[in-house]
Formats: sequence, C-alpha cells, structure tokens
Amino acid sequence: MSPIVRRSSCLVASLGCLVAAGFAADYPYQPVPFTAVKVTGGFWQTRQEINRTVTVPFALQQCEESGRLKNFDLAAETMHRRAAGEEHFQTVPPTLYPFDDTDAYKAIEGAAYVLSMQKDATLEKRLDGWIARIAAAQEPDGYLYTFRTMHPDSPGHKWVGEKRWEKDPELSHELYDAGHLYEAGVAYFQATGKRSLLDVCLKNAELLWRDFGDGKYRLAPGHEIVEMGLVKLYRVTRDQRWLKLAQVFLDARGPGGPEYNQRHKRVVDQDEAVGHAVRANYLYSGMADVAALTGDERYESAIKKIWNNVAGKKLYLTGGVGARTNGEAYGTDYELPADGYNETCAAIALMMWNHRMFLLTGDARYMDVFERTVFNGFLGGVSVSGDRFFYPNPLAYDGVKKNNHGFAGRAPWFGCACCPPNLMRTLASLSGYFYAVRDDALYVNFYADNAGEATIAGTRVAMVQTTDYPWQGKVRLTLTPSTPARFILRVRIPEWAQGKPVPSDLYAYEDAARNGWKVSVAGAEVAAAPDHGYVSITREWRAGDAVDIDFSMPVHRVAGNVHIAATRGRVALERGPVVYCVEEAGHNGPLAGLVVPATAGITPEPQPGFLGGVTVLSINGSSVAAPVTAIPYFSWNNRGLAPMTVWLPDGAK
Ligand SMILES: [Zn+2]
Repeated sequence: MSPIVRRSSCLVASLGCLVAAGFAADYPYQPVPFTAVKVTGGFWQTRQEINRTVTVPFALQQCEESGRLKNFDLAAETMHRRAAGEEHFQTVPPTLYPFDDTDAYKAIEGAAYVLSMQKDATLEKRLDGWIARIAAAQEPDGYLYTFRTMHPDSPGHKWVGEKRWEKDPELSHELYDAGHLYEAGVAYFQATGKRSLLDVCLKNAELLWRDFGDGKYRLAPGHEIVEMGLVKLYRVTRDQRWLKLAQVFLDARGPGGPEYNQRHKRVVDQDEAVGHAVRANYLYSGMADVAALTGDERYESAIKKIWNNVAGKKLYLTGGVGARTNGEAYGTDYELPADGYNETCAAIALMMWNHRMFLLTGDARYMDVFERTVFNGFLGGVSVSGDRFFYPNPLAYDGVKKNNHGFAGRAPWFGCACCPPNLMRTLASLSGYFYAVRDDALYVNFYADNAGEATIAGTRVAMVQTTDYPWQGKVRLTLTPSTPARFILRVRIPEWAQGKPVPSDLYAYEDAARNGWKVSVAGAEVAAAPDHGYVSITREWRAGDAVDIDFSMPVHRVAGNVHIAATRGRVALERGPVVYCVEEAGHNGPLAGLVVPATAGITPEPQPGFLGGVTVLSINGSSVAAPVTAIPYFSWNNRGLAPMTVWLPDGAK
C-alpha cells in the first residue's frame, strides 16, 4: 500500500483520520495500546500477576547478582580512572557475553510496562538507580557498550572488534545493545514521563547518525533489533533521522553474506525464512515497521512471501519456530523434528512480526498464528511459579537430556539470558495485542477478561470482555460508547474454529466437521460469514450493548503434513487454541508403547487447582489400560523431570 492510498482513504473516511492529519503515515490498523486495556481476571490476570510479583523482581535480582549491572559500573570506573590519569587502567568483563547489557535493558522495559499499569514507587526508585548506572557508562560521544568501554586498549572479548562497529556484522552486538536500549528508554519515558534513559538513547542515536546516517559506511547489523528500536525513537520524537537510520540498516543487508544473519540477499529480495530465528523475526518486524512508515511496498511484499514460507512449511504446531539447535535457526522446508529448538525469544519475535503483519493488512490469519504461539510456544517458556524458564521449547523430551542450555528441565537463569526478560516484557504488555482500530471499525483480536477504551471515529468507546477463554468458548463483549454511535465491530473468528489449525496445509484436523461458532448481538444471531477472518457487525451502538461469541471447543485430533517426517503415524491433540502433550508424571505410566487410536475417547476435564488452573484431557481407550491424562503443552515440566511428547503414535498405517 502506498502512502498516497492511505492518505486518500483517510480523507473519505472519518473524523479519526482528520484528527491524525499532519502526522506521518503509520500502520493503517492502529493497536489500542496496552495502557488503555486492563486485564481484569481469568487466565491472563493470573499470569500477569505472577509476572509482576515474581518474575519481575526475580529478573531484576538476577541481573544484579549475575554482574550485568556491574558491567556498567566497571565501564564508568574505567572512564573515570583514565580521565584521572591512570592511562592503562582497564577491566576484564565479569559476565560472558557482550550482549549482556540487553538483559538489563529488557528488564527495565518489562518493569516499565508493569509501572505503566500500576504505580510502584519502590520499583521506580530501583529502576532510577539502574538508569543512573547505565548513563554513567555512556562515553562522552554517546557510545554505550560496556565490554569495550571497560577494556578499551584491546578487545576484552573475542567477539569485540579492534575498532567500534567493525565486528557488528558478525558477533559484537553493539547495535543489538542499542536496539534494546531504545526500546527500554521509550518504555520508561512513556511509563514515568522521565527522560533519563530516553536522553541516553538519543545521545547514542546521534552517534549512529554521525557514523551511519549518510549511508556511506554500509554496515548490516549482525543481530537485528536496532531497526525496531529506532522506529520507537522516531515515533516518540518524530525526528525523521531515526526512521531514516532504520531504513539505512535494513538496506545495508546483502547480497553475498551468510544466511545465518540474513545477509545473503538484499532484504527486499528475500522470500524464505532462513538463519537464526530470533534475528530473522526481528528483521521481518523491522521491515514491517519501515514499510508502514515509509509506504515502501517492497518490504511488505518480501515479508509476505517470507511469512507464507513460515506458515506453510516452518511452523510448529505450538507456534514455535527455529527448528535447529545448531545456529538457533530455521531449518529447511518441513524440517520440524520433534525435539526442535524453538527458542522462546523466537516465539516472542514471531508474535511481534505477526502482529505487525495484521497492522499492515487487517487480515486475521496473522493473529491466528499469534494466538497459537502465545498459548503454546511462548507461554511454555515460563513455569507456573514464574521463576523457572525454558530457552528451547521442543515438542518431545526424554526426561534426561540437558537441552536447556546446560540444564535438564526449567532453569532459574542462563549465561545467555535473553529469554526470561523477553517473556517478562511481553507478558506485561500483552493487552496491547487485544484490539485495533481503523477508521470506523473496532477489531477484536484476542479473547480474555479485560476492560479497555478506544476512540472509534471520534467516539470514546469502553469495551469489557468476560470469558473463561481458553478453557471455555463463550465470550461476552459489552460496548459502551460515550454517546450512541454507528461503527463497525469486527470479531475475529480463529481458523481453529473454522476447521483449520493453521492458515496453511501444514497441519489439519482429522475431524473438521465438529467445529462451530456463533456470534449474536442483544440475543439475535449474526448471520454473516467471516471476511478476512472477521465477522462484521455494523449498527448504532448504545451503552451496554452486548455481543456474545460462542466457540464450540471440541477436542481435535491433528495430523501433520505428509512432508513432516516427525509427525507421520502420529496425532496431536488440541482444544481451542491450546495444544496438549502427555507427560510421564503423576499417575501416567510410561510413554513408551502409548498409542492413541482414532477410537479413543477424549474428554476435557477442568482442574482449577492443577498446574495453575488448567483443563486436562482424559484419554480412554489408548493402548494403556488406565486413563491417560494430557496436559496443556505450556504447563509441562512443572512436576519434575519426565519424558513428554506432543505427537502421539496413532496406531494407523
Ligand atoms: Zn532467547
């Protein structure tokens, strides 16, 4: 879509657009920010509360105890002592990786999102202390990268170059650090109104502008995210240079580099997801941002092709991506082994990318993938207790292997600790994915207990959802416009409710006929079929109007595409958006020899007191005499080490 098309559609459309006139183009579908939508109960409130009360303090403590904050102090100390005359003073970094700075940035970002929803003077004071230590480590010209600053005469780590930036296309992560810094700085500014960290960001961005802004020093960031960070700086400052820099970094990629970090082709020529999956998904998210803000259709066209490749050939049933442990990378088409890697960060980056694809296109299938990932491949990354984590998220486990970065089972923290603070920031801001607005239409993308507010064609509208989703399919959405107003409500009907687990032929239900859903307004059923995944209701809405959405939630048997070796002769179970697994724990016997034929009876059973409150599946008529219990995949390994599998032998030929 060109910016001209967007502008003209604005002119004919609505008051909302006129209010926005004068600002640059952005996504045509605008998310209702998480700060305007509060999770009020149910499934996600439980998890957000654990995130706020357990994960956030735990992650802050881990950052402090592991030396990640000390890195900033040592960088500052080195600068001071050298300025005072100790010309050879330098320190060896006490932590493992030059990207350790980003764990602190992501923790600040996550904590800032928590502060946005709930004031907490103690937490804010603690973060202010962190920010002062970070600011003190920034060099006078804006450079901020503790591993070089504390060891300036020679590289203090093998990934760090002799000169600034020169090893960034490989592994120095200088620009990766900058990207997470910007995301944190913007988050903290928006949460508190304090410019302290934002000013550090802008001083750093000025340096990037001096070094890269004219495009002469072409450098492709080795680990993408600075593109998204710069876009956030642009949105908050409206300084065009930051958007331009994001584009400069995108356009510096390829051709002729390694696939590992997507430098093999120019980004606009890429059509397949390759290489390190977190890097890849951050890149595609950055391309979506720049496509939205510049109207450059080439980025959009490329990421649509790449997305088709992922959804059609490289997506796990759990919404995880990045099958290979080696290089934490996407595999080839249909390379989806049961013990695939599926880094938690790759799932989070996939959610970011899919949300952006929706914001570009208004198509619900992107939110379908988002939903699959959030309930399965993402949520499995954190324990029910909130303080144990998975880095990889395989769909089968032998109960023994130390596959979690040296740990067997969930771990409290990692030497490379990218995943826990990434989970924390995503959970804290999850309600930002629930709703979106375009012109005179409100999009409902996610089902959870919440109370929110949006402006639709100039009218303030309060939305309240009550539901027991994902355990039950009934959702009541109540709308209260400030005055009666005519607008369009678009309600997402997930593909799983329409008989397809994913928007491709990668997986299929063996029993699609049992699906069903119903939407009604004030008791009257809406007959419309979904268009791009949405049922639309246009009417004059009045205070308290209720929309009831009812998805039937039968248990589904899922088959994998014949090209996936690991799923042949096997079946997976899911109900609603939740994928199940069988874990050899509790009263369940050995997994070896377990066969679940098509004749097995499978019954959902709510168990509010089990694994944080879940609905399990009771399987009768398997090859094992006693009933077997399947649990939600996301809740595995909360009962000690045990074998687990998602794909169960079905006994068929
Ligand atoms: Zn990670």
